[in-house]
Order: sequence, then structure tokens, then C-alpha cells
Amino acid sequence: RTVYVNGTYLPENEATISIFDRGFLMADGVYEVTSVLDGKLIDFAGHAKRLERSLNELDMPHPDCLPDLLDIHRELVRLNGIEEGMIYLQITRGAPGDRDFAFPDPATCTPTVVLFTQNKPGLANSPVAKTGIKVISVADQRWARRDIKTVQLLYPSMGKMMAKAAGVDDAWMVEDGMVTEGTSNNAYIVKGNTIITRHLGNEILHGITRAAVLRFAHEAQMQVEERSFSIAEAQAADEAFITSASMFVMPVVEIDGAAVGTGTPGPVAARLREIYLDESRKVAV
Ligand code: PLP
Repeated sequence: RTVYVNGTYLPENEATISIFDRGFLMADGVYEVTSVLDGKLIDFAGHAKRLERSLNELDMPHPDCLPDLLDIHRELVRLNGIEEGMIYLQITRGAPGDRDFAFPDPATCTPTVVLFTQNKPGLANSPVAKTGIKVISVADQRWARRDIKTVQLLYPSMGKMMAKAAGVDDAWMVEDGMVTEGTSNNAYIVKGNTIITRHLGNEILHGITRAAVLRFAHEAQMQVEERSFSIAEAQAADEAFITSASMFVMPVVEIDGAAVGTGTPGPVAARLREIYLDESRKVAV
């Protein structure tokens, strides 16, 4: 596999990063994951915009290659022959000569930029979309700026491990009695004809897939309510689902051992998945 590191395309086993890199030492970095369908990038503009916001929120200098990221993504897709899969992009504050809590002077320390692809044939036709996933609830113990897409992902990893130990697929995180989001996705329920998902704020990541799905839902005349909901409300809902760049729209059929609705994927999630995939493919770059 060919990867990209600081301006160079090279084989993955030749790619190196300094041990002083603040991404490594301090999780001082941000990232994006963009999916690839038919060899094209899904909603690249949305990911690029959120990336820039993440950099700005952390006062991280913009790397020189920022305007070229679309070309770099496309080149990596081409070099690795990706038809379906993902591209991971990470930018860290760089590698000053020493470990120091204070940010280094941008004049002497430039950001580190890394990209790699993950080949996932069949991503859009995942059989899991036909059966749905099961989740448990866990306390949300992340930091308070979840709107910034940083690489400090230890707690979401622990959430995934708690889900695995419970024999399910993922965890929905709960704070003050209300669901924030999944470990790596946004959470939704459906009641009657209304789609309910948590309002934006610092408590959740502003999903690029979320924004697109809500837009498509409005266009299809579906009702949308942006507000928080509890696990009890979700268990009593007609449907539940998640969204993310790599899962698209994925039904949730069980929460903390209780079946949601019929315990099988519902029509609203299925329709939104279809619309999302169709419409996103049309405008993929
Ligand atoms: N919420 C969290 C915590 C995430 O990590 C992610 C994606 O990685 C999402 C939501 C979904 O965001 P997107 O639709 O932009 O992939």
C-alpha cells in the first residue's frame, strides 16, 4: 500500500514519523475519514470544511498542503486502486525537539500530515445493513469538546471494548441521562414519522453524514427533530439507527438487551440509507 507523509507518496513500510511528534506524545492532532465509492470520494467538501474548523479550534497551523488535499486524496485512491473503502487523514501539530505542554512556535515547527487508504470491497452492500447492529449504553466519559475531531480516541476505544465484552456491536454514550452519540457515529431514533437526533453542540461530533442525511430527510418531506433523547425513549421508539462516513446509515435493532420496534431494521432507516447512498454517489468527486 502506498501512503502519504508530508508531501511524499511512499510504501507504508518506509513511512516514518518522529518520536517527538505531538500527535504521538499528546494526541495533539485532528483527523478525517472519507469514504470511497466507485473510486470516488463521498462528501469531500464536508470533510475538508470540518477539518479546517478542527484546526482552527485548536489554534493549529494550517499545513501548506491544505489546498491540495483533494488532489492528494484522489492520487492515493488512484495509486492504491481503491473502488470501495476509506481514506484516513491525520494532521498533528508536528514534532518540536522536546516534549513540552505548551504549543511549539509555528515558525519552527510544521504540522505533520499523513494519509492512508483502507480497501473495503462491499462497503456499501454490507450484509449488516440487512440485520442491523446491537448496542449497549455506557457513561460518556470523554472530554467536553467532542465537536473537534481529535485523535484522542481512548475512551471511544474503551466503549467499543465494553460493547464487545457484552457481545454487541457498539456503545451509545450517555451523559446527564441523555444519549450523546455512538463511539464513532451519530445516534438517531424514529417515532412515527419523526426522525429524532441530538442537537449540535460541543457534546457531539458534527457528523458530515448526519448533515447530509438530515438534508435528504427534509427534502423527502420527513419530519426531523433535533433534540436529545434518553435510552428509555430509544428502547420504546419504532426504529433506531446510526450514521457515519464508513457505516452510512446503519439500523440499530437492540439497545441494552431490549428490542427496538420489531427488533429488525425499520423502513425509515432503510429508505434513508438508500437515499444517502444514491444521492452521495451522484455528487461524489
Ligand atoms: N461521532 C463520533 C464520535 C465519530 O467519531 C464519528 C465519526 O468518526 C461520527 C460521529 C460520525 O461523523 P461522520 O458522519 O462525519 O463520519
